[in-house]
Amino acid sequence: MLGLPDGIRACLFDMDGVLTRTATVHMAAWKRTFDEYLRASDPQAPLFTQLDYNRYVDGKPRADGVRDFLASRGITLPEGSPDDPASAATVHGIGRRKNELLLAELAENGVEVYPGSMAYLRAARDAGLATAVVTASANGEQVVAAGGFADLIDARVDGVVTAREGLRGKPAPDTFLAGARALGVEPAEAAVFEDALAGVEAGRAGAFGLVVGVDRVGQAEALRAHGADVVVTDLDQLLDGGAR
Ligand SMILES: [Mg+2]
Repeated sequence: MLGLPDGIRACLFDMDGVLTRTATVHMAAWKRTFDEYLRASDPQAPLFTQLDYNRYVDGKPRADGVRDFLASRGITLPEGSPDDPASAATVHGIGRRKNELLLAELAENGVEVYPGSMAYLRAARDAGLATAVVTASANGEQVVAAGGFADLIDARVDGVVTAREGLRGKPAPDTFLAGARALGVEPAEAAVFEDALAGVEAGRAGAFGLVVGVDRVGQAEALRAHGADVVVTDLDQLLDGGAR
């Protein structure tokens, strides 16, 4: 009924783009941040694209996203420190600028959830499965609360937990493994739900029972290539048995 193999006892959900419609808000905040930075040094520089976001940024800890995208353009910046102001030309300064834009947008427009994902989350709970949110976002707690589904989640591994426990971010499997541990299940007993290439890679690397790729931006093939066992465009397709 949930479209999962026998033996799955827990669901590990990425947040932005899987449960909440916030991946687009992240993309817009990154685009503004990177475009301003790129154009300040070279008015002819190609601007940040959706493909850049999918390949280099989505799903990763903020500083890794800054570093990996800039490296793709041959740019290396000093790391700086997490206290750097948003104006600093450092990895952490650029990350702060993006986060300020993101938080302003979320404060203004709130957090929208995917109705199909909420239906799936409820169905999973009703079937007795344990649930966790596993996200690189440092705003995980606030976004889950603003989305109104905190009571459907048994555990949360977010950017704050990741930093505190010294875990490696996606595409390393560490955060999903921590989610499985928090729910008391083995990786083979957990299904991973991810919309990011780095996220499905993490799912494959952790040898989870099933990796579900959630394709919100037309990258089904890339999700499969990076580790998704099945790809859906919305989680309620699994309820209908419609996974491809
Ligand atoms: Mg995501």
